[in-house]
Parts: sequence; structure tokens; C-alpha cells
Amino acid sequence: MKALIIGGGITGPVTALALRKAGIESEIFEAYQASADGAGGWLMIAPNGVNALDLVGLAEPLRTIGRPNQRMVMTDGRGKRLGAFAELDEHNPSQLVLRPDLYRLLTEHAAAAGIKIHHGRRLVDATETADGVTAHFADGSSASGDVLIGADGVHSTVRKLIDPNAPGPRYTGLLGFGGSLPGNNFGLVQDEFYFAQGKRGFLGYALTAEGDTGWFTNVPSAEPIAGDEARRIGAPEWLRRMRELYGDEYPAHEMLAAATPDDMVVLGAMHIMPSAPRWHRGRMVLVGDAAHVPSNSTGQGASMSIESAIQLARSLRDLPVPQAFEAYEKLRRPRVEKVAEYGEKVNQDKVNGRIGQAVTSLLAPIAMKLFMKPEKMFGWLHRYEINWDEKVAA
Ligand SMILES: Cc1cc2nc3c(=O)[nH]c(=O)nc-3n(C[C@H](O)[C@H](O)[C@H](O)COP(=O)(O)OP(=O)(O)OC[C@H]3O[C@@H](n4cnc5c(N)ncnc54)[C@H](O)[C@@H]3O)c2cc1C
Repeated sequence: MKALIIGGGITGPVTALALRKAGIESEIFEAYQASADGAGGWLMIAPNGVNALDLVGLAEPLRTIGRPNQRMVMTDGRGKRLGAFAELDEHNPSQLVLRPDLYRLLTEHAAAAGIKIHHGRRLVDATETADGVTAHFADGSSASGDVLIGADGVHSTVRKLIDPNAPGPRYTGLLGFGGSLPGNNFGLVQDEFYFAQGKRGFLGYALTAEGDTGWFTNVPSAEPIAGDEARRIGAPEWLRRMRELYGDEYPAHEMLAAATPDDMVVLGAMHIMPSAPRWHRGRMVLVGDAAHVPSNSTGQGASMSIESAIQLARSLRDLPVPQAFEAYEKLRRPRVEKVAEYGEKVNQDKVNGRIGQAVTSLLAPIAMKLFMKPEKMFGWLHRYEINWDEKVAA
């Protein structure tokens, strides 16, 4: 069997490596002309994502580029430490990685495994026959295989080919920004990740693997300003607006005062896509962000995508199409929808400023100790492991 994988972001190379392990050949077709090195800011790979990467031999390489996290520390808008959530398993903590580093790691491993990655090949259409599928690209070229896998991200073309009526992603009401400052001038601890929740917004920040101070934030905006447009408006203008928004809250005020446009990442409108109504049709199937995008508040986007890539490969290993696609969807849909539900709630709270109100209340530290039990909150999510060797049932 030969698979055509559309999209060479994060999910594409993982799918190719998992298919290789399952004995299935694949080639990746990526729209960008050159590699996407340098695109994007931080990604969190949660313990369940690390477990999934381990199945394709990438957990240890990930740890060489990642920055392990041991605690999520919550502070209020004045820098007061309200409490902390320890990682459930200190030996397998979440890893904070820069997307360009993760991208490089995955594509290098895929290339080393002999998987072909074609750049500058934007899928525009696909035609199916009884026993195969042909992908058509914007440059006029085409490629044929047995199955076509849409790993083409949140604005997926394959999703529309599978279901022309598929609802698109939904704008969250938030724009994404990040940046880094040289050194550690805020007394941060190397393996902690901080969330400062002020009255008007939150700021996430932590030390990077290099010992610099990285930060990221979401800014509410009625207008869904896409990444390209947001970058055209320019980092200086966004910095100005963020400084105004956060006022004198700590450490947002100090970090944004020290931030420079050159060291900023402007991501623009953040989208969610709870779960596409149809994940497959005929010989085409979706994986990763093309199928499901939980809110970035869950820190699970990349991890869910990686898990789905592994489950798709197992299903194709054990079953013929279309049973393989049906089994894959059955394995994945309940879990990704549960994560999406959880993320949507957190996001809505952010837009409405409810988290700010709750966390800044006098009772927040007590409430955190009494009600927020990490095992109960994250056990089902972080301790998840896929049994690669188990046969997938139809
Ligand atoms: C440029 C960029 C920057 C990002 N930055 C961050 C970040 O800072 N923090 C964060 O948490 N998440 C970020 N993300 C999202 C994150 O990578 C994904 O949520 C997650 O890793 C799942 O990956 P994915 O491979 O399914 O989707 P993506 O990472 O979006 O990859 C999809 C790939 O498909 C390609 N593609 C799209 N359409 C076509 C087509 N028609 N034909 C061929 N190829 C196509 C895209 O160019 C892209 O390389 C970013 C995504 C991108 C594309």
C-alpha cells in the first residue's frame, strides 16, 4: 500500500513514520516551497504526546530539543503565587518545544527513514477510482496512491474534498502572540511554567532551554485577524496595544516594556475546530488539525494530532479501507471531542474574563488546593498510552 500524505507540518511526518513502522510506504506533499523552519512559537507536547512519539522512536530525540516542565504555577496580576500543579509523572513531564525545532526534528527523522517530502506541492483536488486515488496539485502535477491522508492543518483542503459542506474552523475571539527576552530577570525556575492571570488577560511565561525568558499571550479581538494580516499590521503596533491592555499588571507590564518587535512571534487569529463531522470518504481520510483542533488553552493540539497519526497507522496496518478509517475514527473521536469540550470551556472563560475574576478572588489559593486535583483533572488525558501491538478491531 502507498499513502499520499498532504501537509508536511507536524502531523504529516509523524504519520509517515508511524506508517513506515506499520509496513506502509508514504510520500509527503507540502504546499510551502521551502521548509517551514522558523515558523511559529512554542508548542507544548504533553506526556500523552510524548508517549505517542515514543512509538516512532522520537521521545528521546524530543527530550534533547524540549524543555521539561515540572510545575504549572498560577500567579495573580500582582505576581502573587496562588498555587501550582505538579506534573503527574516527574519522569515523563510535558515538553516545551519551539515549533521550528520540532518541525526540523520530525522532518530530519522522516528524511533519514527515506520518506520523500515534496515541497511546493499545494493540493487543489483529488479524484478517486475503485482501488486508488490521484492528488492534483496547483503546479499542474499529480500523484497516485492507494489512500490520501489529509494532514493539511486547520484550514484543510482535504476536509472540503471529503465533505464540501464541512463547517470550517471557528474563531476563538483571541489573537496569539509570543516573544522572548534575553536572560532570566524575573527569578524564574528552570522547570516551572507560569500563568499570570490578571484582571484583563493572562500571560504565560517560562525559561527557555537556552535560559532566556519566553512569554505568550492571547489578546481578545472581535475581528479574526489572520496571521499574515496581523504580521502586516506589525509587531510594534501589537506591542503598543498589549502594553495598553495589560496596564500595570505584573509581570506583563515589565515583560512587555522590555519586549522588542524583533523578538516577537505574531500568530494572529486562533481557531478551534471541535471535530469535523466527516473524517473520511472513500480513500481519503483526515488526521491532526485537519480533523480536530482543540483550543490552545488545553495545550493538547500537537499531542492530539500525534496520537491520531499513530492510531491511523495502526488501523491501516490491521484493516482494509474503509474499515480501517471507520475503526480509526471510532478510536479517536470520543477522546478528541472530550478534549475539545474541556478547551472550549476554558477559552470561553478567558474571553469573558471569568478566569481573571476567579483567580484574583481572595479565595483562589484555597479553592486551588481544595478542588483542583491534578490527577482528577489531567489523569485521563496525560496518562494515556496507545498499545501499538494490539490488533485494531473492525
Ligand atoms: C506556520 C505555523 C505556525 C504555527 N505556530 C504555532 C505555535 O506557535 N503554537 C502552537 O501551539 N501551534 C502552532 N501551530 C499549529 C500547530 O503546528 C498544530 O496545531 C499542530 O502541531 C498540529 O499540526 P498539523 O501538522 O496537523 O497542522 P499544521 O502544523 O498546521 O501543518 C499543516 C501543514 O499542511 C500544509 N498545507 C496546508 N494546506 C495544504 C495543501 N492544500 N497542500 C499541501 N500542503 C498543505 C501547511 O503548509 C502546513 O505545513 C502553527 C502552525 C503553522 C502552520
